[in-house]
This record gives sequence, structure tokens and C-alpha cells, in this order.
Amino acid sequence: IIEFIHVGKYFGDFKVLDDINFDVKKSEIIVICGPSGSGKSTMIRCINRLEEIDEGKILFHGKDIRDIKPIELRKKIGMVFQHFNLFPHLTVLENVMLPLVKVQKKKKKEAEQIAVETLERVRMGDQLHKYPSELSGGQKQRVAIARVLAMKPEVMLFDEPTSALDPEMVNEVLDVMKGLAREDITILCVTHEMGFAREVADRIIFMDKGKIVENTDVETFFKHTDNPRIKEFLSKIM
Ligand code: ATP
Ligand code: MG
Repeated sequence: IIEFIHVGKYFGDFKVLDDINFDVKKSEIIVICGPSGSGKSTMIRCINRLEEIDEGKILFHGKDIRDIKPIELRKKIGMVFQHFNLFPHLTVLENVMLPLVKVQKKKKKEAEQIAVETLERVRMGDQLHKYPSELSGGQKQRVAIARVLAMKPEVMLFDEPTSALDPEMVNEVLDVMKGLAREDITILCVTHEMGFAREVADRIIFMDKGKIVENTDVETFFKHTDNPRIKEFLSKIM
């Protein structure tokens, strides 16, 4: 469904992505990890054109994403950020309805119905009329997930969705994501939650200094890696 072919990207003289090659099949769950500054966020931001690449190409359903309008691409590839990015002046319900009305041009009534259903799926159905400032971090992130999910994307990108949360709220968000993983949706998730990776990921991509160092199934990653960079990384976070 997504293919990276010799992808390179620079920030000025600094090569942030260096000859990235991998592909993602429909319904796959891929966890991306690696040290800070290794290019993880930049890599997934390139997929829905929040960043543009300088070398190589990225294909979505076999088509170069530069030939797809960003707005069309983002209808199909949704993104959840570390810091939720909810609109503070809108309620939970309105936050989820907004893109349905503005981007998908749905009628208000239909948008509301979809928003309510989706919020129920992330167990926020009883907080529809609260404002973001009245929610915990975990609740905000579940609303942010609902907002993307309501658009029925084919692919969801997550960039460290739990790293801004207090420890006791991490699981409620991971549980929602595990629910998604059981469905048809394709997921690329940057996270250091290795328990989550072990439980739901089909594959783990380990990045270091702009390169993919390892791209392997979960078993192999945890049991058989002899890469000293990965060993060092795992020893720090586990
Ligand atoms: P972290 O785990 O800290 O989130 P990351 O793997 O997501 O790190 P990126 O955010 O992709 O890393 O950044 C990779 C490198 O590119 C870093 O050295 C960063 O300083 C640099 N960088 C990121 N965004 C920009 C930008 N807009 N302009 C210039 N340099 C940038
Ligand atoms: Mg990052």
C-alpha cells in the first residue's frame, strides 16, 4: 500500500533521511523506533506530505504521492500527534465533526452521527460536550484518535502518541490502538512502547542517523538481534 524507494531528505546540509527503502502491506502494523534525532518523525511526516522529500520516491497504491493532492492524500492517510492538536474552543464532539464537515463535506446530521459512533469506540461517548481543557491527557489523545478514525482512513500514522502522557494513562490509549490493530486498518506507529510492539506489531523498523538499520518481524527483533546499536537502545528503554 506504501512503498519507499531510495528516499532521501535534507534539512540544509544535514541528511535527515538517507536511502530509505521499505514497503508496507495493507493491514500491516509497523512500529518504528530508534534514538532521538534518527529521523522517525520526518520519515512518517513525508508519507502524508507534511514534509517533502529530496531524493527517490514514495508510492501510495503504486502512485507517486507527489501526483496526489495533499488534501486527497490526508483523507486516506490520517495522522495522530504526540501533543493531540485538538481545537481548544471546540467541544469533543465538535472536534471530531469538524473534518467530516469541512473536508468530507458531510451534512451536519450525518457528521454528528459518525462522530458519536466513533467517540463511543474510543470510550469517550459520555464526554461529548466537554472542552479539551476539561480532559486528561489520555482522554485528549483518544479524542484525537477518534477525529482521525472518523474519516475512515486506509492508513493511520502515529507519532509517539503516548509519550506526552502520564504513565497511568498510557494503557488506555494503547488499548484503543490495539483495538484498531485488530481491524483492517494499516498502522505505522513511532513509539518506544516495546510491550505494545511485541503484542501487536507485524514488523519493527529500527532507525539510526537517518538510515533503516533493521526491518524485521517482532520475534527476530527481540530475540536474535546482534546489532549493538539496537541492543544498547533496548537496554536503555526496557
Ligand atoms: P525524536 O525521537 O526526538 O522525536 P526523531 O527520530 O523523530 O527524534 P526527527 O524529528 O525526524 O527525529 O529529526 C531528525 C533530525 O532532523 C534531527 O536532528 C532534527 O534536529 C532535524 N530536524 C527535524 N525537523 C527539522 C526542521 N524542520 N528543520 C531542520 N532540522 C530539522
Ligand atoms: Mg520524533
